[in-house]
Amino acid sequence: MKIAILPGDGIGPEIIEQAVNVLNALGEKFEMETAVVGGAGYAAHGHPLPDATLKLAQEADAILFGAVGDYQYDALERSLRPEQAILGLRKKLGLFANLRPAILYPELAGASTLKPEVVSGLDILIIRELTGDIYFGQPRGVRTAPDGAFKGEREGFDTMRYAETEIRRIAHVAFQTAQKRDKRLTSVDKANVLETFQFWRDIVTDVHKEYPDVALEHMYVDNAAMQLVRAPKKFDVIVTGNMFGDILSDAAAMLTGSIGMLPSASLDANNKGLYEPSHGSAPDIAGKGIANPLATILSAAMMLRYSLNKAEQADRIETAVKKVLGQGLRTTDIHESGTTKVSTSEMGQAVLKALA
Ligand code: NAD
Repeated sequence: MKIAILPGDGIGPEIIEQAVNVLNALGEKFEMETAVVGGAGYAAHGHPLPDATLKLAQEADAILFGAVGDYQYDALERSLRPEQAILGLRKKLGLFANLRPAILYPELAGASTLKPEVVSGLDILIIRELTGDIYFGQPRGVRTAPDGAFKGEREGFDTMRYAETEIRRIAHVAFQTAQKRDKRLTSVDKANVLETFQFWRDIVTDVHKEYPDVALEHMYVDNAAMQLVRAPKKFDVIVTGNMFGDILSDAAAMLTGSIGMLPSASLDANNKGLYEPSHGSAPDIAGKGIANPLATILSAAMMLRYSLNKAEQADRIETAVKKVLGQGLRTTDIHESGTTKVSTSEMGQAVLKALA
């Protein structure tokens, strides 16, 4: 099995190093090959997603990705910015399903801004459609308004659209994922206002016929935002479109109070995937040795489960992470009084020890 390792920028290389150590400690035979991406790709080859990096990602069975972005690249034209690498990989590899668990380990209940009884033990999964919706719909741009109350004025416009196939395939991923969990799926839409999302609701309802063992509930996105903050534990799996998923998954991430803990997976139709922490490249703390590597280590666990068919090894890693939290070890971002502050590499070493 071949894994493409793309560390990227900022804290990317530091956290990826810890995850690679963990993969190496499992006693499996993985072929791992590293390539530059993001700002590092631009610096080395003049493009955030160099051809050789894309080729490696295409050939690999799975991709472990750190993060991209740095202030020094902010002035570049949009197509050369580091963030274009991740958009390019999603598009080129057809990674249409983004899985973001929001898990709050009881040991970290104090890290959330919500009351511990509301969030302690939270374990939900948001599935966001990643390659469609208003983010990619054409036409888009700035033009002179052809009609409406502001006819003749300059206006910005985008197009929200979803093809039936796009909705069906994400719905199948969502139902199948729910089958492996608590068998409850909430489909989030805005069917009361948007034609696109009435269509979404109709198709999800139709796909549900193939999964009678999963309880399906439809919810409007405004209500879903409210319920996520009011009673997040009542959700199991949430499936939604690209834009609503972007916003809701960040809200869900912050329920846990610790962006440094949250992994993510972006899958294609054959479960090949790109695995990365939910956070960015954190240039403010890069090189200081204080970044939390657990989101990346947990992303490696997701990679084993979803793309490499090694659920047992995934369980081993997740158990090891729980163990180090139980031991009171904390990086700066999740540190509280009464716990022991550790560096990025000390946290990585502790996970290795817990694995053994
Ligand atoms: P960020 O997630 O990088 O950082 C937000 C805050 O969280 C910062 O204070 C940072 O120090 C902290 N943080 C993030 N990860 C952490 C970790 N593992 N341990 C401890 N603290 C952590 O978001 P941002 O500051 O908005 O963006 C920084 C750069 O990252 C930008 O260039 C942005 O475009 C990029 N970015 C990349 C991705 C990606 O690669 N997929 C995603 C989001 C943002």
